[in-house]
Amino acid sequence: MNNPPHLPIDTITSSSNAEIKMLRSLHERKFRRQTGLFLAEGMRHCTEAVQMGYQPMRLVYAQGREADKGMATLIDACQKAGGRILPVTPNLLSRISGKDNPQTVMAAFCMRYGQLSDIRPGKDAADIWVALDRVRDPGNLGTIMRTADAVAAKGIILIEDCTDPYSVEAVRASMGAVFTIEIIQTSSADFITWTKGWGGEIIGTALPASKDYRTANWQKPVILLMGNEQAGLTDDLCKTASQLVRLPMLGRSDSLNLAVATGICLYEAIR
Ligand code: SAM
Repeated sequence: MNNPPHLPIDTITSSSNAEIKMLRSLHERKFRRQTGLFLAEGMRHCTEAVQMGYQPMRLVYAQGREADKGMATLIDACQKAGGRILPVTPNLLSRISGKDNPQTVMAAFCMRYGQLSDIRPGKDAADIWVALDRVRDPGNLGTIMRTADAVAAKGIILIEDCTDPYSVEAVRASMGAVFTIEIIQTSSADFITWTKGWGGEIIGTALPASKDYRTANWQKPVILLMGNEQAGLTDDLCKTASQLVRLPMLGRSDSLNLAVATGICLYEAIR
């Protein structure tokens, strides 16, 4: 097959290639911060990312897969973004992804964060936001992003020191939702100040709360406020809630997994 003139002819074969090392380093938060890039895997998720306006700065694929369905769109987006197109051997895809059975295409995209000031309170009566206090587990965060997308929530507000929404684990667990919802990072103090202008409900979840989540007023717009996996919500954040609710615990466990509790509340919010 003749290579189109704009595609690189040489396949990268060495794991000591600088591009391969850089892509591999994106498993670490430090290097994601330095480069502003994160990894996404698979044709479906890379295509979704491009559709949502994310810019692919590196496009990596298994040699010989140039003609795969959807690849032309990714190549075009990468070229328009001024990125690099990198055909590689299959074992290098494994090396970059850290998996034995990697996807045949991956891309490094620019991270994107919104601002609290961009949220116009009460603009849309159907708005749902999920605010997470110091979420630590990337699997929980990815699952919450996926569930937020499923109920058409606007996005996630990450309060204080949270796990990175753009880590490989969180992106995988989000199943592409990381591209479709907004992600905002903020401090607890800024969040508390900002909520004073929020026009709707703020529903906090806490084990000591007396109100059953099914009897709460889920009138939208609503912010669902969820606590840290170990410590729960801080007292200051609890005080910002217009309602504090609990999910009944009828067995021996004293709490639900954070992502499960978030999912139950989000489906109550759209019921
Ligand atoms: N030991 C922590 C505590 O005392 O809050 C448990 C935290 S729980 C694993 C993580 C978060 O999930 C909580 O902060 C809360 O937002 C939510 N959550 C889990 N189970 C809940 C329940 N039964 N009622 C209300 N919120 C719950």
